[in-house]
Amino acid sequence: MSRSVRVRFAPSPTGLLHIGSAHTGLFNWLFARKEKGRFLLRIEDTDTARSRQEWVDAIYEVLEWMGMDWDEDVVYQSRRIERHVDRARHLVETGRAYRCYYLPEELEAKKKEALAEGRSWRNDRRYADITAAEAEALEAEGRKPVIRLKIPEGKTIFRDRILGEIEVGNETIDDFVIVRSNGTPLYHLAVVVDDVDMEVSHVIRGIDHVTNTTKHIHLFQALGAELPEFAHLPSILGEDKKKLSKRHGAASVSEYRDAGYLSDAVVNFLSLLGWQTGDDQEFFTRAELMERFSLDQVHKRDTVFDLRKFEWLNGQHIMALSNEELWTLAKPFLKREGLVGDRPSGSEKTDCHSERQTVDGNTSGQPEGQTDGRPKGKTAGHAYAMEVVALLRERCRTLADFAVQGRFFFTDDFDYNSKAVRKHWAKEPDAVSERIVWLRDEFAVLEVFDVEAVEGVIRDLSERHGLKAAQFIHPCRVALTGEMAGPSLFHLVAVLGKAVCVERLNRALDRLPDAIEQAAVNQG
Ligand code: GLU
Repeated sequence: MSRSVRVRFAPSPTGLLHIGSAHTGLFNWLFARKEKGRFLLRIEDTDTARSRQEWVDAIYEVLEWMGMDWDEDVVYQSRRIERHVDRARHLVETGRAYRCYYLPEELEAKKKEALAEGRSWRNDRRYADITAAEAEALEAEGRKPVIRLKIPEGKTIFRDRILGEIEVGNETIDDFVIVRSNGTPLYHLAVVVDDVDMEVSHVIRGIDHVTNTTKHIHLFQALGAELPEFAHLPSILGEDKKKLSKRHGAASVSEYRDAGYLSDAVVNFLSLLGWQTGDDQEFFTRAELMERFSLDQVHKRDTVFDLRKFEWLNGQHIMALSNEELWTLAKPFLKREGLVGDRPSGSEKTDCHSERQTVDGNTSGQPEGQTDGRPKGKTAGHAYAMEVVALLRERCRTLADFAVQGRFFFTDDFDYNSKAVRKHWAKEPDAVSERIVWLRDEFAVLEVFDVEAVEGVIRDLSERHGLKAAQFIHPCRVALTGEMAGPSLFHLVAVLGKAVCVERLNRALDRLPDAIEQAAVNQG
């Protein structure tokens, strides 16, 4: 008879949620949602030295950000210690566990002796069947017992949903400690008692837990509980084929979030780590994943964290959003760089409307009042933002890219890229200056400053002077953006608007000699 699906995600709050943990959480969540089961959250906070409330909060924050909603109340393992110890006592009473009075140094000596004789050491259960009076005498000597689980002779065999059949000889499993001599429960006991009490039907966790599972099975059996189904997820490796860790750069979900990865892309990318979709599809929405995910399609071989693929997928998810949605998500990244302010969004449309008119209506080519280094009146404009996003979206792999690639849309404070200066200004500075002057003068008298008009100016000038359009386009891009490449020049000129373009062309004329000198220095 199949049980109703109840899975749990059991992170330890000892640091930021690692990509590997989030992966485990996600596979549990997808499985629960696909099977219309329950996804439970258990905070394994028994390591008081390393667990901190701020890391618990960080787990909630990341799960919420990833859209991994959980069912039922969160279980805090640390609040269940009495229950764990109570179950251990029960195991002693039913003869499935025993109090062991060996001192650590005595055990050490026994292990050494066994090793010297070429035997492997297993606890000889010397104290398993002592009388109450004997126990009292030992305690009077100052000995404090641990509680050990009795591992029966034979084999431990289970069928893992991903790894297939696993078999280990029980001689390799010592009667392990479930309660320390200070009365606190050990991880194995806490996990199994909680899994039993939470009626967990499937334990889905990383492959590094397989040896724990062979122990846990004995605890489930000793407690008389039904075994959950086990599924051990493949290891995630860095591109150097070593287990993914801090060494590989960002290792926690929040670091990717802060670097401008979208929650949908993180979910999509992590879902592909170990899950073979059965076809070539790689882009999945959350809804599709919830529909299609299957534990039976998870492979057991290690899986590699391919950052380039992650970036590509992030770009795909960026492309799937509307300009409006993207602006909302990209704005905090622009704010972080000081490129946009904190105005209430409701005021933006009006601001933009009036400010755009000011900028576009300024035919003098000399925008006034640029005290803060920003293109006047443009930064807060909502319509302006929409145009900028529309131009950048195809080029941005992360939300942070909007602030890097789009910097020149929001501030005049940018440097001229030395390589761009060497290539497009330095080879013929006088001729380039002359072309910039021609452009500036034509732009300044344009009545309608749109893409067609801008393109028309550049095509006309090239024809008139027997030059190629590129001979205007490249130097002009460097002057307006500081960069060698970027969105279509005609479009970005139209979006920046006449006043800003004329002003930046003037500025380029002023700074060209210095920029050329600096670019030469940078090369040397
Ligand atoms: N707290 C354990 C960890 O973070 C998970 C234990 C389990 O899933 O059974 O690795």
